[in-house]
Amino acid sequence: MIDVQRHSGYGRFGFTILGSGSKGNATVIHAPDGDFLLDAGFSAKELERRMILRDIDPDGIQAMVVTHDHTDHVCGCRVFGNRHGIPVYLTAETCLLMGRNNELPEERIVIEPGTRFELCGLTVEPFSVSHDVEGTVAYTFRSGEDKLGYATDLGSFGLLVTSRLKDCHAIVLESNYDIRALRASARPENVKRRIMSRHGHLSNENALECLEQVISPQTRNLVLAHLSRECNDPDLVAEGLRRKLESLNRPDVCWDVACQDTPLDTIWLKSEDDFFAGFGK
Ligand SMILES: [Zn+2]
Ligand SMILES: [Zn+2]
Repeated sequence: MIDVQRHSGYGRFGFTILGSGSKGNATVIHAPDGDFLLDAGFSAKELERRMILRDIDPDGIQAMVVTHDHTDHVCGCRVFGNRHGIPVYLTAETCLLMGRNNELPEERIVIEPGTRFELCGLTVEPFSVSHDVEGTVAYTFRSGEDKLGYATDLGSFGLLVTSRLKDCHAIVLESNYDIRALRASARPENVKRRIMSRHGHLSNENALECLEQVISPQTRNLVLAHLSRECNDPDLVAEGLRRKLESLNRPDVCWDVACQDTPLDTIWLKSEDDFFAGFGK
């Protein structure tokens, strides 16, 4: 039986990465007033299976928020959205592209990069990132003082990205490829160039450079995500992050590397326990 109680109400705020990588991305955001999906890059059936694995009730999902129109982020969107009668939040460009590809559920809500909106008790801010499809965004989610930043699928990071991620308590950031593994791979040269370009993906080195700029005294949790299966190695990514945190003298930061096949445990920025503890003060 699903422990729905654990995932409802009371000012809670957390996230569960159901899976991340070049073959599919989806995260459940546990907001004060309900759960919603950030990207739906697995089939509806697989999304539901992974939710149940982590005690999340698929019928409790209130909405979907998507980053961009690539299959590994939206392939379950139409079926999951229609099955559960929930809307998808997406940029105008993503809406157009998903419409052409028959990927849209019935209910859509168009959002604009830089314009905040409220969802399930969180303030959500989409911001533009450089990727090889129009309308790609990353997000921050805020509940009171607590803030989560989520940026995958970006070929470069500038001031906009670092300023959005800087004051986050939890950060999920892409660490897509190891440059040596990508160069040595059998991929066509034009594909390699696209991935390495400013409109492609962040390499492991890029991700660590970005983290160095955004880690602040507030940072409590880091997750590196969207690893390429063929051109990366989770152990290498973990070792790089461990060394970076050591060099920054931040052994207090909890970190993990998201994987393609298994959901991570839920990371809470604020749990029900924190809320009830507040009553005793
Ligand atoms: Zn992707
Ligand atoms: Zn993409």
